[in-house]
Amino acid sequence: MERRAQGRRRMDAGVPARRRREMAAATSGAGRCRLSKVGAGRRPPPARVRVAVRLRPFVDGAAGENDTPCVRGLDSCSLEIANWRNHQETLKYQFDAFYGERSSQQDIYAGSVQPILRHLLEGQNASVLAYGPTGAGKTHTMLGSPEQPGVIPRALMDLLQLTREESAEGRPWALSVTMSYLEIYQEKVLDLLEPSSGDLVIREDCRGNILIPGLTQKPITSFADFERHFLPASRNRTVGATRLNQRSSRSHAVLLVKVDQRERLAPFRQREGKLYLIDLAGSEDNRRTGNKGLRLKESGAINTSLFVLGKVVDALNQGLPRVPYRDSKLTRLLQDSLGGSAHSILIANIAPERRFYLDTVSALNFAARSKEVINRPFTNESLQLHVLAPIKLSKKELLGPSEAKRARGPEEEETGSPEPPAAPSSASQKLSPLQKLNSMDPAMVERLLSLDRLLGSQGSQGTPLLSTPRRERMVLMKTVEAKDLEIERLKMKQKELEAKVLAQEAADPKEKENYSPTMLRPLARRTVTVAKPLKKAVVMPLQLIQEQAAYPNAEIHILKKKGRKRKLESLDASEPEEKGEDCWELQISPELLARGRQKILDLLNEGSARDLRSLQRIGQKKAQLIVGWRELHGPFSQVEDLERVEGISGKQMESFLKANILGLAAGQRCGPS
Ligand code: ADP
Ligand code: MG
Repeated sequence: MERRAQGRRRMDAGVPARRRREMAAATSGAGRCRLSKVGAGRRPPPARVRVAVRLRPFVDGAAGENDTPCVRGLDSCSLEIANWRNHQETLKYQFDAFYGERSSQQDIYAGSVQPILRHLLEGQNASVLAYGPTGAGKTHTMLGSPEQPGVIPRALMDLLQLTREESAEGRPWALSVTMSYLEIYQEKVLDLLEPSSGDLVIREDCRGNILIPGLTQKPITSFADFERHFLPASRNRTVGATRLNQRSSRSHAVLLVKVDQRERLAPFRQREGKLYLIDLAGSEDNRRTGNKGLRLKESGAINTSLFVLGKVVDALNQGLPRVPYRDSKLTRLLQDSLGGSAHSILIANIAPERRFYLDTVSALNFAARSKEVINRPFTNESLQLHVLAPIKLSKKELLGPSEAKRARGPEEEETGSPEPPAAPSSASQKLSPLQKLNSMDPAMVERLLSLDRLLGSQGSQGTPLLSTPRRERMVLMKTVEAKDLEIERLKMKQKELEAKVLAQEAADPKEKENYSPTMLRPLARRTVTVAKPLKKAVVMPLQLIQEQAAYPNAEIHILKKKGRKRKLESLDASEPEEKGEDCWELQISPELLARGRQKILDLLNEGSARDLRSLQRIGQKKAQLIVGWRELHGPFSQVEDLERVEGISGKQMESFLKANILGLAAGQRCGPS
């Protein structure tokens, strides 16, 4: 031992102090992070998340007469899909790579995955994620079958081969490979190699490495080793599920492969590269499956994490200063392996069948770098949207209340949509595309319209995801400033009115009883309510009272409260004034409440994140959650649906309603700006 230490001292003698510190850090483990061949301290430039799209072929001979594809490839990077809004147009999307229905497992692997593996041996991290609706080919892409092995077996084979070569006798580094396999289900991290472990925590060490303490790691030296651990673990995943398909399409399956390297000679550096291979949960709108209870909760958790994943990819690719990794377990886990110096590829899987149309559009929008509207029909037969709803139902059955409204006046609806439809060019095209919606499945109509609103609010060329947090912060600050000014102005006005009343009372106290108290009494009481100056809602009664003075058929009454007893007073009651300790409450007519609810609902369904933030109790995060929920589930059918938004509790929903209903009913805001 002592001799070894002496030897080390001798070796270090000729090395400058700084270099020695680096070496010490490297051997003690402190330098494990990112000691790549590029050299310590020189970080490679941040890598974008590359996005590839894979279109699978028709399966089970589905391509019959009634099922022509709704999407097709244009070249190795782009594809086009029919535009549901106007069948004279197609939408062209561009990606880093596009793999058509004829491409093989080897094409995808060699084109998009194999090139990133070598970075693992440089101590860098990498991730491969398969995204897309259930049935679009994620598992086929990642796992494949014995005849057509997918990304996972191919990557494992290559990595094991590479490590064997690199750590052969006489090579400077000794390499070892370990694997872990976990599942993220309902925002819980579950170890598939040791299912009894329960929900595991994700931690970050002082150097920004993400770790899961307690997660099983199995050393593997051959592909047989890998299969020995992986196959039973995959069965664990399915055994745990009450309904195999339901659960497996609702959880994210994460295979983690670590490559550890130790230098054989001084300075005995260590390196670690992590590879995440992820089969994501299905991105389809689970609302359409009529989910309730647990299923709905699951959908919420999946959709939240996929929504956050979209925002993370968007933030990384736009070079935004804040990347919201912490907003979901999945992205938190990937924090050191998605973006930064990591090499990541997202493979969006899509299906050609028309029944997948909505999910395909939504997957493309999730993944798209750019989108263009091209002025040409998709095919000679062009996409006839009514074909999308093969089930024949009566019009009444097809349309829910909101759709029925649309059916009455589709043109009116269209006025609000961002792009007017192209002029009809033949007798068969006389109907506007939206009129055709009448014959469609109502859930589909809702989704199309909400998708349309979302895309419209972002402009046809815009990136599909939400605007940047920074921009939103600025907008929020401006809104708060404007609100504060408005409150100040109303307070001043209120003071002026109070002063006027007091002056009048002082001038002629006898006349006091003859005054119409409509304005005066509440104003006198206002002095009491103003004792809570921090409540912004305090301005509302004044506005309502003023409104009431202007409209004799007022829908609001003021209730005088003394102790526990409450006495209804019409505003024009002429009883003598009560003592100062009385307080006042508002009683609002049901019609007014209904109006307020409707306005809130309209705002929830049509308002942008910015519009939503102008509501009481809705901050930036909640506004984004609402918009995200709407993007994934379609419009809210009632204001109480807010509770279904992940992150908004029933209590919060109630206090939100209380805080906003009156203001909106009284016409403070009339809808999205
Ligand atoms: P997901 O995992 O997205 O739910 P799967 O991978 O299970 O979808 O694919 C659904 C079906 O489609 C499976 O039967 C699968 O074998 C088949 N499939 C998917 N992609 C392809 C492809 N590229 N070529 C041939 N068959 C495919
Ligand atoms: Mg699958």
